[in-house]
Amino acid sequence: TSDPDYDVVVVGAGVTGLTAANRLRAAGRSVIVLEARDRVGGRLLTDTLDGVRLEVGGQWVSPDQTSLLALLGELGLETYSRYREGESVYIGLDGVRCTFEGEKFPVSERTATEMDRLTVILDKLAAEMDPLEPWNHPDADYLDRISFAAWLAEQTDDAEARDNIGLYIGPAMLTKPAHSFSALSAVLMAASAGGFSHLVDADFILDRRVVGGLQRVPLALASRLPAGTVRLGEAVTKVEWDADGATVFTGQDSYRGRNVVMAVPPTLVSRVQYVPALPPVQAQMRQHISFGLVIKLHITYATPFWRELGLSGTAFSPYALVHEAYDNTNEDVEGETRGTLVGFVSDVKADGLLALDAAERRAKVLESLATYYGPEALSPVHYYESPWMADEWTVGAFGTSFDIGSLTRYGRHLRSDVGPLAFASSDIAGLGFQHVDGAIRMGEAVAARLLS
Ligand code: FAD
Repeated sequence: TSDPDYDVVVVGAGVTGLTAANRLRAAGRSVIVLEARDRVGGRLLTDTLDGVRLEVGGQWVSPDQTSLLALLGELGLETYSRYREGESVYIGLDGVRCTFEGEKFPVSERTATEMDRLTVILDKLAAEMDPLEPWNHPDADYLDRISFAAWLAEQTDDAEARDNIGLYIGPAMLTKPAHSFSALSAVLMAASAGGFSHLVDADFILDRRVVGGLQRVPLALASRLPAGTVRLGEAVTKVEWDADGATVFTGQDSYRGRNVVMAVPPTLVSRVQYVPALPPVQAQMRQHISFGLVIKLHITYATPFWRELGLSGTAFSPYALVHEAYDNTNEDVEGETRGTLVGFVSDVKADGLLALDAAERRAKVLESLATYYGPEALSPVHYYESPWMADEWTVGAFGTSFDIGSLTRYGRHLRSDVGPLAFASSDIAGLGFQHVDGAIRMGEAVAARLLS
């Protein structure tokens, strides 16, 4: 072993790694950040394509995300409200398109009653959970053995209520089918956002956007570090570790640190070779964690034509290819006359879409949007699909989650250090799980642990 070059080597320049690096650096520690990509930000990318500025990755900020709101304040970044005036669109089980105002879907009285009842039950379960320790929930064993779909079927025989409640957590959040994750994971998703009711309320959970784009957060964090601290294009392939520290190898170089923070999603922790190998439970655990799959779609029109039709742009249907869509026009760009819709195609519907060629995919998506907004939706000026599932430094979207039974079996090892190695990312957060808020919390927590 040789003397460390750095107190801490951080692997990954997403919000988690950059938050940790800033906190460690502020406390006087020497830090280097190694990033595989040629840019910082990880799952946050604000890019201008064909003249349209797009939030390719994460973009929304909600009131429960207090760590993100505090960081935005610290960095002097401003936010603005998502456009939401006018009626929303819902397509129910009968295939009929309805418009409505407020957060209650225009469903039958019975379905509405069942959705309200399920919301109360899920809010109660979430309130009983510390999202940092879901395995300690009083009903954890039972809830982790049963899929969310099976749990919903136990609660109600109203199919439309099940499909809508399932949508908020399945396609819309974990981006997996509701039969593939446990009811405990569903409650974790709700608890991490401060309650299930928050997930139901689009005006809450998709409240604000950052002026100039959310990638300004990691860009600002990186710019506060001394020049040369963040090394781009340095994909870490191997970590040799012992009791005194670790040596991190990239294609080009090696870096020795007293500690290493693997600030990458759990699925990518396992792609790196460890010498000696990580303890068996660590390797086992991460084989039970996988990325969800969602295609984020950006469709720009000459004008936000839906506004003229009295529509807010907000649209939902568990039965449509695009299960949710919103007005995503860049209100912060002066002189912007175009209108942009953002839509999502998730889990098994995304599988089907990805099996088609580019022209077929576009046609199917536009057809789905036309059922919400009418025929004008068929003629955009720009169409783009975020490519996270094909990006080797993410391989999915939005985040990762456990399979059935694994949260109780392995969850308590998620944040354990191994010798000098620590692991952090939004995927292992409690509050802010799978969100930028959770990335900040995990970055801060790992820095505090290393400083203690
Ligand atoms: P990442 O951003 O994944 O950062 C990890 C970094 O590690 C990456 O830069 C990666 O390149 C690097 N890396 C990986 N392996 C290696 C290696 N071997 N060597 C070196 N570097 C490596 N959150 C919200 O709060 N609001 C939203 O609206 C929202 N929408 C989203 C929409 C999409 C399409 C996606 C994909 C995500 C969205 N999220 C949203 C989630 C949010 O973006 C993430 O939770 C958060 O950015 C994760 O930060 P992180 O630093 O933990 O991980």
